[in-house]
Amino acid sequence: MVVFTCAKPPKSTTLRSVNDSYTHILVGAGLHNGLTALALRRHQPGARVLLIERGPRPGGNHTWCFHGVDPDPDARALLDPLVEHRWPRQEVRFPGLERVLDTTYSGFTSESLAAALETAFADWPGSALLCGVSATAVEAHAVTLDDGRVVTGELVIDARGPERLAVDDADSGYQKFYGLDVELEAPHGLTHPLLMDATIPQRDGFRFLYVLPFGPRRVLVEDTRFAVTSDLDVARMRADLLSEVARRGWRITRELRAEHGVLPMPGRGEVAPPVASPIQAGYGGGWLHPATGYSLPVAVRFALAVAAGPAASAPARLEALHRDVSRRLPFMHRLNRLLFQCFAPDDMWNVFARFYKKPESLIERFYALRSTPTDRTRILLGRPPKGVNLGRALAILA
Ligand SMILES: Cc1cc2nc3c(=O)[nH]c(=O)nc-3n(C[C@H](O)[C@H](O)[C@H](O)COP(=O)(O)OP(=O)(O)OC[C@H]3O[C@@H](n4cnc5c(N)ncnc54)[C@H](O)[C@@H]3O)c2cc1C
Repeated sequence: MVVFTCAKPPKSTTLRSVNDSYTHILVGAGLHNGLTALALRRHQPGARVLLIERGPRPGGNHTWCFHGVDPDPDARALLDPLVEHRWPRQEVRFPGLERVLDTTYSGFTSESLAAALETAFADWPGSALLCGVSATAVEAHAVTLDDGRVVTGELVIDARGPERLAVDDADSGYQKFYGLDVELEAPHGLTHPLLMDATIPQRDGFRFLYVLPFGPRRVLVEDTRFAVTSDLDVARMRADLLSEVARRGWRITRELRAEHGVLPMPGRGEVAPPVASPIQAGYGGGWLHPATGYSLPVAVRFALAVAAGPAASAPARLEALHRDVSRRLPFMHRLNRLLFQCFAPDDMWNVFARFYKKPESLIERFYALRSTPTDRTRILLGRPPKGVNLGRALAILA
């Protein structure tokens, strides 16, 4: 037996004994491994799981959202307890197009995931949540920690975050965010999320405001850009965001939280094949939707596949998901190359305005990474978006 501590232990992760050998070692307690741990707790309560996180608590600092309702009851059972907000509809705005979609939009924060994980591990025999400790080496059945200790297990799942995704700059783009969760002096009047408000000045690529109304006077408001370069000037993004907030006549009385990030939107690449331990998982393993940057729908399917049986057979169970995601990637990669290589930054918004004229069910399937062949044809067919470099586009589509 080895004993570990959490850096600043919250109540549920105080001094804890850690077995020498686990069925599952999950490295990185973000969205993907967080969901996997919760799925294991529910479906494999006899599993001995070690979840390792370098931060003081699991989950990091995010608000994760998803479109629609997952048809799989197990997916709903995993997500529903985490969801803090569910809106019945969502809206997008572009110059010349305003559309309200009757697709639900649901979200939860890192706080919700952290609380669920702390509860799950508080009373899980043989399992442990280990925070404030970094993994320095991740091998097939052993993980070395930054205090020099080594933990061993049957299956290691490495989900240390998006920065581990290797992308080729020439073919890829980036999604950059700066967001503030704030309280306003007066009610904002929004009843549902504004997923994309691209009526704001375009800058650094396709730029839009993302607004989640958490309460009558509380909003998460985010300046988002789909850009060719990955540099993020946090001070500049913040100033740009605050000027948009002011332009709406909103006066901030309290800043509750700020978040920012850069996500690769690859134009090529693969999902790491889950053939054997350690499995490269999460955004860093390529388990994502390249054209939206959303990874939650895939994370849920991954978590449920891992938790559907014993650790030893998890790679075999993940094979079907890997095949399904892999066959959908080339189309999404091509869309990214079309966006980032065939449009001047100020024209990119036309691509999304055109997309949002499509049927609602097509849009919902697109976000869930479940587009049908007909959807794919409908996305590409028709008059091309304004500003396209036709020669380059035809070369990419050839
Ligand atoms: C601002 C922002 C908003 C997003 N919103 C959405 C959304 O609404 N919907 C959606 O589907 N996707 C969203 N995404 C995209 C994606 O789903 C998230 O990035 C998601 O958090 C990726 O999950 P992950 O588990 O791969 O990585 P992360 O959630 O980043 O988790 C990785 C974890 O590993 C830990 N770690 C790293 N190195 C080590 C180490 N050596 N040892 C131990 N721990 C380590 C990190 O501290 C972190 O907690 C968003 C991304 C960002 C940046």
